Amino acid sequence: MMLKLFRNARIVTPKDEGSPAAGKNQGNVIRYDPGALIVKGGRIAGIGEEHAVLEGLPAEEVHMEVDCKGRCLIPGFVDPHTHMCFARLREAEFDMRIGGMSYLDILRQGGGILSSVEAVRRESESGLYRGTRSRVVTALEHGTTTVEIKSGYGLDTDNELKMLRVIDRVARQTPLDVVPTFLGAHAIPPEYADTPDTFVDLIVNEMLPAVRDQGIAKHCDVFCEDGVFTIDQSRRILSAAKQLGMAVKLHADEIRDLGGAGLAGELNAVSADHVLAASDESIDKMARAGVIATLLPATAYCLRKPYARARTFISRDVPVALATDCNPGSSYTESMPFVIGLAVLNMGLSPAEALTAATLNAAYALGLARRTGSLEDGKNADFLLLNGESPSILAYHAGVSPVRHVYKLGEKIV
Ligand SMILES: [Zn+2]
Repeated sequence: MMLKLFRNARIVTPKDEGSPAAGKNQGNVIRYDPGALIVKGGRIAGIGEEHAVLEGLPAEEVHMEVDCKGRCLIPGFVDPHTHMCFARLREAEFDMRIGGMSYLDILRQGGGILSSVEAVRRESESGLYRGTRSRVVTALEHGTTTVEIKSGYGLDTDNELKMLRVIDRVARQTPLDVVPTFLGAHAIPPEYADTPDTFVDLIVNEMLPAVRDQGIAKHCDVFCEDGVFTIDQSRRILSAAKQLGMAVKLHADEIRDLGGAGLAGELNAVSADHVLAASDESIDKMARAGVIATLLPATAYCLRKPYARARTFISRDVPVALATDCNPGSSYTESMPFVIGLAVLNMGLSPAEALTAATLNAAYALGLARRTGSLEDGKNADFLLLNGESPSILAYHAGVSPVRHVYKLGEKIV
């Protein structure tokens, strides 16, 4: 089979030791300078110091050679938490918010998450597809090669299934790997405002079995928060999802420490996301159960809130992942370079720790680390060439994406 050779690159990649990188391993990356990488049939078939890779490489089998000119070469980003499937932006609401209006006042003006629900319920499947696809392509241009997208703006069985069909179509019609997640428990819809437990019954008895039969979503997520879903309701929904064979994750302890991060530990969730307010005790439960903390600094930035305690998670051996949380309300960005910049400058991660969080640990948070998230023999040849010498450029070049080229399965896409 024909080989592609990428040489004269400054390669930086986390090393997959068979589990998410926690504690000191979070920042343990391998560097090859100058490094080379061989692609065979879309997979990595050799990586290392250039002289070692070139030694014994049969020149006649190399049909393409790329001189990377000393640029940094890193794994493609994995964005493990997004709400990119939505029907309408909420730009006017942004103006209200920065003008100082409270979230409750915004709700009264018809804003907030329920306006996104109304828009998705009204939107056609093809309209929803076009908007979602364009955001996914923007993510790809910023270096994301694998992205998770949640449902959760339908909040009834038909519209939740509609969202998952749209996400599945985006998965099939773009070069990225797209991972659909069922988030029927994103908010209490207006028709159940007075009877939230009846809505939980609907999720457990009707939506989850329908989602399982549809066969698209492999993960189930719940927004566990004051005024949304309680710990008991979250436990009920996620336990039912586990019984149907789905992996589970949570929006946990974003605003108040309800114990959602601890529940993630109890349920062996793959990740607990946001976790701004998680207590030390909950963090230790996550560490014992191997739950990944998916941190969403763009949300804290856009809402002008304090950031999650990234250094505490790392010092207590919880693997940290990073995601955009791309959504029309609290964090409208598709850019992982922006998220990495915030993580380095505002949460105190080193560039190497942030790289691991945005690649290997994020791949683990989606159950995809076997094929992506780091550059090693046998994994997919998903990688980026940066306009810079090291991953530091991602934070150093503020507000601009230094992603020069994106390779997916060894093909140049961007
Ligand atoms: Zn979210």
